[in-house]
Amino acid sequence: MEKVQVYKFGGASVKDAAAILNLRQIVETHGAGQPLLIVVSAMGKTTNALEDLFQRAYSGQNFDIPLASLHQYHTATIAGLGLSAAAQEPIAQATGQLFEELKQQLQQVDVTADYDQQYDQIVSYGELLASRILALALGNGTRPVQWLDCRTVLRTDDNWREGKIDWATTEAQIQAALPPLLAERVVVTQGFLGGTANGRTTTLGREGSDYTAAILAYCLRAESVTIWKDVAGLLNADPKIFPDTVRYPEISYRETIEMAYYGASVIHPKTLKPLADRNIPLRVKSFVNPEAEGTLIHDCQHPALAPAFIRKTDQCLLTFASKDFSFISEENMAVIFAALAQAKLKINVMQNSAISFSVCIDFSQRRVHQLLDVLREQFLLHYNTGLMLFTIKNYTPASIAQLTEGKRLLLEQRTRGTFQFVCA
Ligand code: ASP
Ligand code: MG
Repeated sequence: MEKVQVYKFGGASVKDAAAILNLRQIVETHGAGQPLLIVVSAMGKTTNALEDLFQRAYSGQNFDIPLASLHQYHTATIAGLGLSAAAQEPIAQATGQLFEELKQQLQQVDVTADYDQQYDQIVSYGELLASRILALALGNGTRPVQWLDCRTVLRTDDNWREGKIDWATTEAQIQAALPPLLAERVVVTQGFLGGTANGRTTTLGREGSDYTAAILAYCLRAESVTIWKDVAGLLNADPKIFPDTVRYPEISYRETIEMAYYGASVIHPKTLKPLADRNIPLRVKSFVNPEAEGTLIHDCQHPALAPAFIRKTDQCLLTFASKDFSFISEENMAVIFAALAQAKLKINVMQNSAISFSVCIDFSQRRVHQLLDVLREQFLLHYNTGLMLFTIKNYTPASIAQLTEGKRLLLEQRTRGTFQFVCA
């Protein structure tokens, strides 16, 4: 079979009917002439809406109105695609059925059962809906289209909300199922989702659709992956936050992995490794301006890069101190790390002093309380929330001065290539 191209379309690129029609144009022009696999995320802010619905169901609140409005949003999008009544009918039906199932799942939410497992069963509907709608919208074009339930090929363990890929099974399943389909049709599947051996749905972590595209590309030994975004490519900062951004026309896997790790939201951090392992280039291109060059991420050498500025919000700075002025020892740290892992909290920065140890993490009320319950007896604990973590990669003295000006830093750290600080 000819080599496959993988296209990943995020929530913004399918947020309404006009966006979907633009995407169809991109598929017909840029995606022509080669096997094409499309990975799509939930439409617009649907995943947030589903999280909210789940939270309501879990806390016993009524969810009828937000559920109806999410249904209405999807129905209006379908109606806006300009399809004939006959073409609209099957998709309206499929959507109606998915909403019916979703409602039943919400009604069955059980406070005594595992939270994260139930979360996955519900929050996954966004991608199921978007992929159905997109497959239909594209099926009306020049090439035949096939919808694929990626949970049948992408096998994970039952680490809910952050499913770990079973690579051997996944690769075997993808190799068996996809090439024959791709030889004849454009295949549309869901980002973000996986399936366990028992057929339960898992998710791969928020914003995980990029990672799905990379997993599929790896298993298919694809020619390339293209992530279509609402920005011009990989920029040195998020233009919504920082002025005067510059685009990197070409950049190595390594640099990009590090930027994604520090929180550059343009690419999910797990995306790069599978691609680098099989030397599959990743393009980041603008769906607003698809002719523009974008960014090529691959195995390359390049001169020193412009400093990259990354901001993470909603951070929590947690400090553990010993209760008796004893030093924070390796044994203490082992206890702290184990409790952090147990609560599924990830450390963004850490620092220790004589009698205390501090970590900066993404804040989650539920998880932080779970952690505190475990560690309260052994340590004195302080935490501040609502903080920001800034990272400058490839910093210069001027870039540090510019970014720290006027801010009160609660923690700062500098290594050879990276400067980080936490502030209010
Ligand atoms: N829809 C999911 C999310 O919003 C996955 C993704 O967008 O990549 O987190
Ligand atoms: Mg998204």
